[in-house]
Amino acid sequence: MTEPTYQFGWRRFQFEVPEPWEPSHLEGDDAGGYARLDDALRTRLELKWSRSYADDACDVAFRRYLKQLVRPYGKRGGAAVMPHEPKEISLVSRWPDGMRGRTVRWSAEVDGLATIIACSRCNRVTAIQVFFPPGEMQTGLMRRILETFRDHPEDPDGPVGWSLYRMRFQAPARWRLVAHRFGPGYAEMNFRGPDGLLADLRRWGPAEIILKKQNLLDWYLAQFPKGVTVEKKDVTQAEVRGDVVLAVASEPRGLLAILRRRGRVEVAKQGLCLQSVAWHCPAGNRLWMTDVYAPTLPAAQAGDWKVFCHGEAQGA
Ligand SMILES: [Zn+2]
Ligand SMILES: [Zn+2]
Repeated sequence: MTEPTYQFGWRRFQFEVPEPWEPSHLEGDDAGGYARLDDALRTRLELKWSRSYADDACDVAFRRYLKQLVRPYGKRGGAAVMPHEPKEISLVSRWPDGMRGRTVRWSAEVDGLATIIACSRCNRVTAIQVFFPPGEMQTGLMRRILETFRDHPEDPDGPVGWSLYRMRFQAPARWRLVAHRFGPGYAEMNFRGPDGLLADLRRWGPAEIILKKQNLLDWYLAQFPKGVTVEKKDVTQAEVRGDVVLAVASEPRGLLAILRRRGRVEVAKQGLCLQSVAWHCPAGNRLWMTDVYAPTLPAAQAGDWKVFCHGEAQGA
């Protein structure tokens, strides 16, 4: 594959895809869900996952997939075309330990390659479908996706990579994504970790527009929820790899009340500390902010939580 790729990362899945492929749809949670990646013209990849503890999870899901494939799929908005010539092929000579995969190629109004992967370590069953314009099937591209495919991190206590919409970061594998929002100028991801830990990652852009109206410090102070008091003197400032980084590590007044109102009671009961970091990344023309709430400050500051805003890790 000659086109540049990046390692897509979402809910513990990681695999390489061509750079223009970005999600157009994301739903579900770690146990079951669906993601769709498009390029500028069309849908290129669909990822569907669920849990299964069966020994023959791969074969069962593969048979189910074939059954669906030969059924006309007019309901999905396209013409009711019956894919023909589904044919099982082998693209990966050796899957990682605990993982098994089966691949089928088919053609209809588009050409497709689909692989069903079952992993006995994390008990996930995943269907990856990749679509190609008629006659342009690239088995090499699919092989690259499959050979780089991981559905769980090596170390369950280690970091896991996330990457989409040019947001690339590392978070502890034990953190669970509980909510997310992606828009053209704003993105937000909310995580929940062990022992009542809460972590938020936020990104704004373009930074030069936002910082025309106010300086970075005033902008930063305005991001805290109403009722939370963070004063200018609490904010430390540093320059890290060309980015101006602001940080607050304290127990700001008002925080408990805010979190109680948001229903995050289990944290509120234990007392609450905040480790907040925000920075301006001129290279990416973005503003970033990471907030970790935990019962103690060391807990809020622990964890391999890194954001790669322009190359190397920043902030968090
Ligand atoms: Zn797995
Ligand atoms: Zn940066």
